[in-house]
Amino acid sequence: MIKTDILIIGAGPTGLFTVFEAGLLKLKTHLIDALPQPGGQCSEIYPKKPIYDIPGFPEVLAGDLVDNLMEQIKPFSPGFTLGERAETIEKLEDGSFIVTTNKGTQHHAPVVAIAGGLGSFEPRKPPIPNIANYEDKGVSYIIRDPEVYRGKKVVIAGGGDSALDWSIFLADVASEVVLVHRRNEFRGALDSVEKVGELSKLGKIELMTEAQVTALHGNNELQGLTIKYNNGEEVLRETDHFIPLFGLSPKLGPIGDWGLEIEKNAIKVDNSYDYATNIPGIYAIGDVNTYPGKLKLILSGFHEAAIMCQSAYQRIYPDKKYVMKYTTVGGIQGFDGTVKEAKKEVIRSIN
Ligand SMILES: Cc1cc2nc3c(=O)[nH]c(=O)nc-3n(C[C@H](O)[C@H](O)[C@H](O)COP(=O)(O)OP(=O)(O)OC[C@H]3O[C@@H](n4cnc5c(N)ncnc54)[C@H](O)[C@@H]3O)c2cc1C
Repeated sequence: MIKTDILIIGAGPTGLFTVFEAGLLKLKTHLIDALPQPGGQCSEIYPKKPIYDIPGFPEVLAGDLVDNLMEQIKPFSPGFTLGERAETIEKLEDGSFIVTTNKGTQHHAPVVAIAGGLGSFEPRKPPIPNIANYEDKGVSYIIRDPEVYRGKKVVIAGGGDSALDWSIFLADVASEVVLVHRRNEFRGALDSVEKVGELSKLGKIELMTEAQVTALHGNNELQGLTIKYNNGEEVLRETDHFIPLFGLSPKLGPIGDWGLEIEKNAIKVDNSYDYATNIPGIYAIGDVNTYPGKLKLILSGFHEAAIMCQSAYQRIYPDKKYVMKYTTVGGIQGFDGTVKEAKKEVIRSIN
């Protein structure tokens, strides 16, 4: 049985940063993730995509952000159960929990932090009859390595951030980028919509709006597709790749059966205080939770992790007084005894 102070379900950016915040409070952590590697969506869906809204990083690749988080939490030596899905939870009489994975690994902790993001990754697929025949033979629903598309003809479909961001990025990588969207308006960030418009004027992205991809062609591999406009006109295009980016259909998975209050596939939490769920001792942070005004962004998960850890500390040590202060003297002392010199860093410490 693996024992820890805070059991974190999900090793995405939120779960990883929870290790750091807990470590500052001298709380031990262990992470479970169904994926074989840490990083959540950043590693699995878009490791090579730049992110522009992490405070202090004007631009950082998602994969590099995960590497940095792993480096940042190293002093706190978190445990990892990777490639296993948290399946069941049992509450013991003393209020602590046993979480068992699909492979039977058991974890015991007084506090459980669910940082499960979107749960299992299920891309939404367009209703094209023979699309399954071309999966990994020209059709992909996730861009893992943009270099695959260097010098190739690419058709992207979708109207959200993912379709816009990747069209912008691949405009400098692929030989041809066509963006197909069934409406005239895009749902993504205004800035990205404007950028796509500019690149379209420069001839670097070909926009085909009020249209949909309706058929795929090619013998063993994808060689072309049919694009049908809403007015009925059909166009045949040669292409090497078709990337429908219609988002991920959220599937909470087994966590959905744990007796937690669920709203629109997310766990309802108390955002007036500590991101606690309706079950005392279980918190939900990052993309997996919902509350009025929730923003599904990495920085929201970081903030929620910091607040949740303060509450978890009080739950684990109800008699200890925690006084938050800033210091430049202590440095970050890891559980392995190493002290990272604080120098000019300002960090928090326990009184
Ligand atoms: C294409 C794209 C671009 C984006 N760009 C940005 C951006 O520029 N800026 C920004 O701030 N945000 C961006 N986001 C959103 C950002 O990725 C998420 O807000 C962030 O990943 C949420 O982190 P998380 O740790 O809460 O969840 P996730 O990253 O989803 O990680 C959750 C982890 O929990 C695991 N898990 C779930 N259920 C279980 C279970 N039962 N057992 C074990 N493991 C489980 C999953 O396998 C996963 O690894 C983007 C998202 C996408 C898809």
